[in-house]
Amino acid sequence: MKAIRLVEPLSPLQMHEIPVPTIGEGDVLVRVRAAGICHSDVHFRAGKVPVQPLPRTLGHEIAGVVEQVGSHVTTIKVGNRVCVHYVLSCGECCYCHMGNEQLCPQGSIIGSHVDGGYAEYVAVPERNAVHLPEEIPFEHGAILMCSSATAFHALHKSRLKSGETVAIFGVGGLGVSAIQLAYAFGALDVYAVDINVVNVNTGWRQNLIIIWRNISLAFFFLKLWRDLCWLV
Ligand SMILES: [Zn+2]
Ligand SMILES: [Zn+2]
Repeated sequence: MKAIRLVEPLSPLQMHEIPVPTIGEGDVLVRVRAAGICHSDVHFRAGKVPVQPLPRTLGHEIAGVVEQVGSHVTTIKVGNRVCVHYVLSCGECCYCHMGNEQLCPQGSIIGSHVDGGYAEYVAVPERNAVHLPEEIPFEHGAILMCSSATAFHALHKSRLKSGETVAIFGVGGLGVSAIQLAYAFGALDVYAVDINVVNVNTGWRQNLIIIWRNISLAFFFLKLWRDLCWLV
């Protein structure tokens, strides 16, 4: 199969012909239909975050169609549309049970520690394959698993409640996800702030309520709003 691989930091990725991955009895083989480019991939290529050993197939934002399933797989069938959760963990240690699988001693990342989705196929454990509804395009399903999940986590940590107002700083990939998710959380108003006009215009197309182009002004009003809330 064709795979786009990191061979050496600071060098262009290279297309290689490598074997289709074999799957274990608890794995599924996914034919990749979309794979997002994350800023982490930029760090990997720049050598800021070392990837060893090389070459490595990057890509951890993945969606596709299941082509093959292992003999012990029960929840996923051949032909299912799936997106891929990129953290591989044991699922049994105390950290995994607490929902902190990123701390799992056996944890690893698809597209960094093991080969990822810049390829025709990727093999993942059954528990990492998440059903993707028909109405969600593969391209959206892929980024849901990283950039949108990060924005979701941030909003969850903010304890945003229905009817509240939220300010999103940065209308890039994560910011656009955060804006849409903030409305889904029930936010009354979403203030989106960016110093990049292109991003601001993108924001307008997303039917944003309010955007300040001047970040200093935005901070001023945000502080004023906080102070007023404090006084009330
Ligand atoms: Zn990512
Ligand atoms: Zn674990």
